[in-house]
Formats: sequence, structure tokens, C-alpha cells
Amino acid sequence: MKELVKTPFITALLTKAAGPDVDLNKLHVFEVRATSTVPLRGKKGTIFERATISPHTISLLAKSVNEDAVPLMMDHELDGAPYGKFFYAESVPMESGDIELRGYIYVDDSEEVILTKLETGSIDEVSIQFLSSHMLCSECGFDYFEAAANDNFLPLMSHTCEQGHVIGREGVHVRLVGVEEMIELSLVSRGAAKNSKIIGSSDAMLGESAQRLAASGVDVRNDYYCTASINDEGVNDVDFKDLTAKLTALTDDKIDLATKLVAAEAQVTALTSDRDSEKARADSAEAQVTKLTEAAATASQEAEGVPTSETVTAMSALIGKNYVALKALDGEADANVPEDITEAVKFIEDNQARLSALIPAGGVTVQAGGSQGNLTEGQKKLQIAQVSAFKSN
Ligand SMILES: [Zn+2]
Repeated sequence: MKELVKTPFITALLTKAAGPDVDLNKLHVFEVRATSTVPLRGKKGTIFERATISPHTISLLAKSVNEDAVPLMMDHELDGAPYGKFFYAESVPMESGDIELRGYIYVDDSEEVILTKLETGSIDEVSIQFLSSHMLCSECGFDYFEAAANDNFLPLMSHTCEQGHVIGREGVHVRLVGVEEMIELSLVSRGAAKNSKIIGSSDAMLGESAQRLAASGVDVRNDYYCTASINDEGVNDVDFKDLTAKLTALTDDKIDLATKLVAAEAQVTALTSDRDSEKARADSAEAQVTKLTEAAATASQEAEGVPTSETVTAMSALIGKNYVALKALDGEADANVPEDITEAVKFIEDNQARLSALIPAGGVTVQAGGSQGNLTEGQKKLQIAQVSAFKSN
């Protein structure tokens, strides 16, 4: 049985929180450990990684709850009607030396499912949501919220204070100090704060001192009782929606610029490619013109009956042989063909008679000084024609 029996203390508190006209029998009360000064768990990688709530802040949270009961929600969903209220809280020393925020919640009679889950332990944890006044670097006291208030969001985004202390490294964390706004207490499957949970009635401990004090005439609603509350989803209270929107806008700008850059690069590439292909086309055309010019020259030469280079070479070789042969007749056994072939031609013409004598009829070689009559008239003409043809060139 986790539901608490309504003591006079609880009844007094309920009457204050719900109003005098409410049938208190329809409100079911449970004791909760809402949070403590023990470092928050399950926040790895966030600005709240191992964040701590100062003892004074715990008392301020409790004060806030006692002044104005907080809606009891489910999983921090703020839509819809509350299931009840977090209507009383105290700050209580723990055995470890930490301070915890204990309190009472009530759940409406109509919430049968919730009541069953609370009794069976299916729901046995709570998580508080509040906005602290300050978020301080544990090392140097740099205030992240103050920086954000001055439009400097970089520390919050980078999890790094201006002194370079990085949250999550070497034990650096934030300390939540002060209460800006108390939002709600939620029933959750797993609370943000270590040991935040619904307390069984056998372990309930609140109210004993209060009842004693009430019996002695002390107003239990005053600030004598340190009250406290916890933070779970404080990250939402830093207006991260706004931050995210700004970051998104920046990213969009970046993407836009990158897109334009890529387009410009593509255009440059296309233009360069066009230029290269135009140049290649021009080079190709030029080469073709050269080739056609050469072909045209050759064709022109052939058309005019000009001997080809092969013919000239063959004729030069023949003239050379005749020249050497004539020189041999003159006793120059190792005469060289003059570089200017026309000299050789002239020499052969001057010695034509002797040359005729050298060329035998029927291709038979004769000794120097042989009969000139051995060369037929046709052969002589051919020889002369060849020499003349060369000379005319
Ligand atoms: Zn710092």
C-alpha cells in the first residue's frame, strides 16, 4: 500500500492546496522524493550532464511548491489536464549528506489507471521540471544563462565556459542555482534525478516534525521547512527551440552558399571543357589543312610531270655512275660524284662521245676504250633523254 492515510497534517495541506470545497476523499496522497543535490543522471552529452542543484535551490523549489501547488503530469507532457498536484515539499537531509526534496502529491479519484500503476509500482518515479535562475560552471562560476541573456549562445551550444571548462570533462558540470520558474512534476518510468521516486507509506517520513510543530503552534506553511524541487527537462526551458531555429537558419545559409559554389564550379568546368574542345577542333582542322596542302602540292607536281623524289634519286645515281665511269677512263679510279649534280651532267655531256663507247650493246660490259658502235641508237637516245630531263630540272 503506497497511498498514505490522511493525517490531520496532510488534510490541512490538502485543504489549502485544493480548496475548502473539495471532497478530500477523492484525492489520493502519495509521498515522493522529487529530487536531490546528488548529480543528475541520464544526461550524458547534454549541458545537464551530472548537473547539481544547490541545497539552497532545493529549498527554493520547496518554497515554490508550498506557495503554489504544481501540476502533476505524465512524462512532462504539458498538454491535457493534470492528474493531480504536487502540493507540499520539504528539503530533507539524506544519510549521504546530500539534501533531497520530499513531498506529497495527490491524484484525482478519476485516474483509476494511474492509481493502480502507482500502487503496483508500475509507475514509481517522478521528475520535476523547473527553470533555474543561473547555470554556473562548477569550476569558475561562469553563468551560462547570463551569457545567453546577452545573446552569447556559444557557451550553451559548445558546453564550454569562457574559461574553457568543458562540461562532461574532468568532472566539470553545471550547478543550477535559484528558481526562475517551477513548471510541473511528472510521473515517469525513470526519473532524471537519482532516487526520485514514489515512497511506500511504510517509508514515508514527512510530516512527523511538522505535526509536532503544528501541535506546538508553529505555522507549518511558513519558510521554516526547507522545501525543494528538482529539474529534469530544464533543457527545454533555455529556449532551445529558438537556438535550434537560429542554428537551422545558419545551416540553411551555408547550404545555399555551398549550392551556389557548386553551380559556379560546374559552369567553370563546362566553359573550360568547351574551350578545350574548340581548341582541339582548331588544332585538328589546322593539321588537316597542312596535310591537304602537302597532298595538293604532290598532286600538283605529279600533274605537271615533275619527277618524284624517287625518280630524281634514281637518275642522280645513274648520272653518278656514268660520271665515275668516265673519270675512271681518265685514270681517276676513286673519283667522287660532285655535290652539284649539274657539274656531273655537264662533264658527261662534254664527254658524251666517250660515254657512248662505254655502254655496250645488249648490256654486255666492255673494257674501257671499247667500240662506240656497241650502243644502239635507241639506247643512246634514252641516255641523252634521261640526262637532258635531269638537266632541264
Ligand atoms: Zn568554467
